[in-house]
Amino acid sequence: MTPGPAAGAADAGGSPSTVEAYQAAILSAITPLAPIQLELAAAEGCVLAEDVTAAVALPSFDNSSMDGYAVHASDVAGASRQAPAVLRVTGEIAAGDVGAYRLVPATAIKIMTGAQLPAGADAVVPVEWTDGGIAEVAVYEPAKPGNAVRYAGGDAAEGETLLSAGTRMRPMQVAVAASAGRKTVAVRPRPRVVVLSTGDELREPGTPLVPGQIWDSNSYMIAACAREAGAAAYRHSVVPDDPAGVLPALEEQLTRADLLITTGGVSMGGEHDVVKAALRELGTVTFRKVAMQPGMPQGFGVIGAGGPGGAGGVGGVGAERGVPIFTLPGNPVSAYVSFQVFVRPAIAALQGADDLSLPAVRATLTGPARSPAGRRSYLRGVLDGGAVTPLSGQQSHQVASLGRANALIIVPERETQLPAGETVDVLVLP
Ligand code: AMP
Ligand code: MG
Repeated sequence: MTPGPAAGAADAGGSPSTVEAYQAAILSAITPLAPIQLELAAAEGCVLAEDVTAAVALPSFDNSSMDGYAVHASDVAGASRQAPAVLRVTGEIAAGDVGAYRLVPATAIKIMTGAQLPAGADAVVPVEWTDGGIAEVAVYEPAKPGNAVRYAGGDAAEGETLLSAGTRMRPMQVAVAASAGRKTVAVRPRPRVVVLSTGDELREPGTPLVPGQIWDSNSYMIAACAREAGAAAYRHSVVPDDPAGVLPALEEQLTRADLLITTGGVSMGGEHDVVKAALRELGTVTFRKVAMQPGMPQGFGVIGAGGPGGAGGVGGVGAERGVPIFTLPGNPVSAYVSFQVFVRPAIAALQGADDLSLPAVRATLTGPARSPAGRRSYLRGVLDGGAVTPLSGQQSHQVASLGRANALIIVPERETQLPAGETVDVLVLP
């Protein structure tokens, strides 16, 4: 396993990392999970580890795109309402009929959508252009050769690459794989992500609070974020601020997790920063400042690596490869933004996915946006077409505005204030 950023140095000193440098350090420590074969029904949300090609031409036979009559185009060339072409109907072909039919000149065969075109026919007259006759049919409009015909290979040629490795299996891609005849596909599985909140003040939603306590929202939020990003996420119950409890709780998860995420306990220097205290000792998790807002204090590393050359285990437990761990800040909006900017790409990288980051667009600010000097701000906003409005309530504990946001407005490091009318980069939230 490649060691994490600056492995061995538990606290990265000096000036804050840029967002890009930190993202790059994280991605360099992530290796994709091994591919598995999954049935199509189970593959949705996973990422392809192989190209999917068309086993046969799509479609594999010429067929009708409408309900109507298979004809020789030349037999209906002069047809009109005043002078219909009248043809004897010699049969009917439904979708799924595998019989071999041949169209005799000056006759028609009734045909349904998706049914195989009879030999000799070169066009289909839609039923709407006829009197719908059974024994014979009056055709009121001419049909050109090829009319309402779907030719073999018109969708894809045999052997054509339909989906490439790295593509996420969304419903459209599942449809393509099934259409290509695939029962199973080689995919990288959904990473198993365990989310764990720390804090003596945290209580389970649904239970009463006394002043000094809050409900734990982070573990629910981050587990939901991870699921949305394609992971199989599990939420651990709240871990109190006890350094002796944090490490065993993490250790217990190592064998069942491909990625660990904690929130809280990594502030810039408090004796209650138990996550930092517990993991610092391992030497494989680095705590650093990142030049951003919210989300300045960050931690990342790989723990539990066993075997020769392992990066240092937690009590020797864990997978050979080690388990990447993110220690996100505790304020909910900081945790959310940190997830989207750092964890999401890591989950995608574990899956070998092409789409590492949230989609970004350019939009025009409808109101001013502020940012501290030297830090990149991610402001909650509402994106509406090409316009984006910063929400009020931008502090990192203010979840109300998070609930109203559909976008994060990026204010670059060099800016402290952007006026309305300025064009900005905006991350579109899933
Ligand atoms: P910490 O990073 O532990 O110092 O926490 C920073 C702030 O985030 C404090 O106000 C905490 O109460 C709050 N916080 C920490 N964890 C959670 C959580 N799981 N849910 C909601 N708020 C939290
Ligand atoms: Mg705390």
